[in-house]
Amino acid sequence: MTNRPFKTGESREQASLLPARVEDYVGPDNPVRAIESFVCALDLAKLGFRHADRGVEMGQPPYDPTDLLKLYLYGYINQIRSSRRLEREACRNLELIWLLKNLKPGYRTIANFRKENWAALKAVNRSFVLLARELGLVGGSVVAIDGSFFHGDASKASIFTRKRLADQIAKLDLEIEAYGKSLEDNDAAEVKADHTGGPGNSGGGDGSDIGAKAAALMAQRSRAQADLDRLEESGETQLSLTDPDARHLVKSGQGVAGYNVQVAVDDKHKLIIADEVVNDSSDVGQLHAMAKAAKEALDAEALLVLADEGYYSSTELKACEDDGIVAYVPPSEGNGRLEKQDRFGRKDFSYDGPTDAYRCPAGELLHPMPGRWPNTSGRVEIRYASRNAICKTCQLRVRCLSPKASRRTIGRWEHEDVLERHRARMQTAGDLMRRRSAIVEHPFGTIKCRAGYRHFLVRGFNKVRGEWSLMALCYNFTRVLNILGFERFMAYMAEKALTLWELALASCRAVHPDGPGALPTEIVSHPALGQPVARPTA
Ligand code: SF4
Repeated sequence: MTNRPFKTGESREQASLLPARVEDYVGPDNPVRAIESFVCALDLAKLGFRHADRGVEMGQPPYDPTDLLKLYLYGYINQIRSSRRLEREACRNLELIWLLKNLKPGYRTIANFRKENWAALKAVNRSFVLLARELGLVGGSVVAIDGSFFHGDASKASIFTRKRLADQIAKLDLEIEAYGKSLEDNDAAEVKADHTGGPGNSGGGDGSDIGAKAAALMAQRSRAQADLDRLEESGETQLSLTDPDARHLVKSGQGVAGYNVQVAVDDKHKLIIADEVVNDSSDVGQLHAMAKAAKEALDAEALLVLADEGYYSSTELKACEDDGIVAYVPPSEGNGRLEKQDRFGRKDFSYDGPTDAYRCPAGELLHPMPGRWPNTSGRVEIRYASRNAICKTCQLRVRCLSPKASRRTIGRWEHEDVLERHRARMQTAGDLMRRRSAIVEHPFGTIKCRAGYRHFLVRGFNKVRGEWSLMALCYNFTRVLNILGFERFMAYMAEKALTLWELALASCRAVHPDGPGALPTEIVSHPALGQPVARPTA
């Protein structure tokens, strides 16, 4: 029995309310220590961070990019992304106070770091993939590729197509014409009033009002015309006024003003191995670039790549095959025009390699014609044709030929063997394709639903790519920490830091042969070890 109805806190005036050391606020297994150990083990100058290789110079020193990178990594892992919120958290969040050693960078410094170091942030991402490989968390033989739309810092209303601008101009022209007529009516009414001495301007508003509105419409029209001219000159299909690189992307009836984020995900632990941000709605054309980036990141001799039918492209499959990448992509169905007319389609004709001829449903052969032709998509084809005399008497001609044709032709891509091999392996790819969605949908699900990252805070390709790198890095970082466990991660990082420290020490010894007594303090006490290291004895 106590004499208090509720639990009560301690007095704010009490001198010993808080522990004396910042270190005491952060437990030994706090993940913030993992962020510290990872960032301190990076060579930020090599990764291209601004100011990373700065020596002692005149004037106020800048913030160390190591500290700002720690701040961003902590922020993105904990759903704190805006520079103003990061500034506030750096002042009141004890984990951040510990991580930054009570440094309090302003929001401009924080925002500029993300803007200026977009390429270096991508490089950090790649470094972490390398680390995951060293830790044995990457299978390196199977990756799944997919894309997802993210909102940009732009609205749909700020993105214009040619048609939209032309419609806008036409609408403005009508309104200007209407106002011009009102102005004429107004003038006529005033003239009449002067003659009769009665009240003039029986229409809406006086002439100066109408004139001002007409002038505003004219200005609006010239802006729209200037936008249309800019769009024509650029050769693009859309003009975005807020974020110049964001586009109105549409897929399955859903529209987003933003970017299409592409990822290649390793199947072992669903880590993002390679990524890119594009502004095209379609995934066609991304297969080879993403697969190649993944292969390079994995340093693999061969790679098996899984993607959905949105990536199907014969030229992309050929490029993959040329680079030792085996792609599994369900073929797109096509429009099925011939099937709808109950006529034989391409699949009803089988190719016979030894005789280099197609066999039609009636069992007759179609032989290659001399020459090669580019088809509508630019692929060079060889045409195979049946014989007029045979088709003329064929029982199946109604289902095979168009009313005006006297023979059937089939186009064969000059690299059709690539597609034949692909078709053959897709026959038994059911399990692989089911695995694809399980692998690749995990990162997007986690980033979008768990972290709530569905939009970018920055504008323009470079900055957006930098921000995506932070999102992907935080996904990979959290995942590696969950899979490996804090203890093992820290042990690995300590070992790595020690190696780095020994290397740095050796190179300094070469420059300072007088012994460790002459070594700079930052080498004797390397921050990568998380705590001061005993000064080595000579
Ligand atoms: S019409 Fe000619 S190509 Fe078509 S099935 Fe008959 S023989 Fe074969």
